[in-house]
Amino acid sequence: RGPRTNAPEGSSSQAELLDRYAHSLIPVFGTPQLVLERGDGAWVWDTDGKRYLDLVGGIAVNALGHNHPALVAAVSKQVAEMAHISNFYTSRAQIELAERVLEIAGAPAGSGVFFANSGAEAVEGAIKLSRRTGRTGLVAAEGAFHGRTTGALALTSKAAYRDPFAPLIPDVTHVPYNDNEALRAAVTTETAAVVLEPVQGEAGAIVADPAYLRAARELTTAAGALLVIDEVQTGIGRTGDWFGFQESGIVPDAITLAKGLGGGLPVGALVTFGPDVTGLLTAGQHGSTFSGNPLVAAAGLSVLSTIEAEGLLDHVVQMGEHLVGAVAALGHPDIEGVRGRGLLRAVVLRSELSSGIASAAREAGFLVNPVAPDAIRLVPPLVVTREELDLFVAALPSLIATAKEPTP
Ligand code: PMP
Repeated sequence: RGPRTNAPEGSSSQAELLDRYAHSLIPVFGTPQLVLERGDGAWVWDTDGKRYLDLVGGIAVNALGHNHPALVAAVSKQVAEMAHISNFYTSRAQIELAERVLEIAGAPAGSGVFFANSGAEAVEGAIKLSRRTGRTGLVAAEGAFHGRTTGALALTSKAAYRDPFAPLIPDVTHVPYNDNEALRAAVTTETAAVVLEPVQGEAGAIVADPAYLRAARELTTAAGALLVIDEVQTGIGRTGDWFGFQESGIVPDAITLAKGLGGGLPVGALVTFGPDVTGLLTAGQHGSTFSGNPLVAAAGLSVLSTIEAEGLLDHVVQMGEHLVGAVAALGHPDIEGVRGRGLLRAVVLRSELSSGIASAAREAGFLVNPVAPDAIRLVPPLVVTREELDLFVAALPSLIATAKEPTP
């Protein structure tokens, strides 16, 4: 290891660039499989010029697809005017994005937004908010993913992510997801907050029963605890509603956002509902240098206005239903079905074939995520078309066949 001083300038083959990667980055996410260099809609190209249908979408980030002209124009204009200012000051874009987020969230008067730079940071904000109740107890779900910073990691349930970094912040209880009685037993007058995802994305698109979210609302209200809904993956149209919680009709105390909000630029948010919750964090108690800078705010505004202008919420519902129907119509013996909501989906397999399928898919020009040994997550750009989804569904039988071939 160590930096390569004589790396060829402008070298572009996949193999060469991945070799340079190996000598210059910490491969915390695993070694990348491709070097990508350009995109258009739901398609991306690698540095060898090979094209892929992107059903990963930056992990549910590229809401408008790649290079959407509205996003390109908004970000280009903003960067030419002013990219960043400190939060001693504000910008028109920052204020307008906060107003729009509150509006689409249906947040009551007295609500507020704190902009973060990632999902994990939005969750950190929610944890700090919850501490201001004077309590420390946190309740999260088994299978939950809330991020990798040390506070958020305490809410994330997977042992492989947590154990190398123990001890994490204390007083966190994990309860089985979608189990009202387990939640009832865990929520007490020591609970600062219950934190739940409307769909557990990293667990493989497992959907919360709306009645479960309503029970969580009742239990937290009765115990004087906050209900925080982590919308980092589900928010900004991914489920076909602006936010995943909206289907259940509840009003949460706070939601966390990131991913789709910036359409590819790094912006997250903590949204507090109503004056009592918003008032928990007072001046000087939290902050971040980049928080909601003009550049990411301009990106966020163009994402929200484009989702609206292009009717993408309805489109997401239709594409999600189409995918479910098309996969069911295959009647494939190795496929159990499609789980999830909107365009946060997993093709569930009857055996542990997902990484073999993902490799075969990449060869065949499709990017998909083997989120679990038996589940392939599909979180394409919200603009993905029926025809594009059909290309993948039509290829699935041969991808499965390749995955089942004995390795030589
Ligand atoms: N919460 C949820 C529900 C997520 O899906 C993720 C990311 N997969 C995070 C938090 C963390 O977001 P980030 O990677 O931007 O820190």
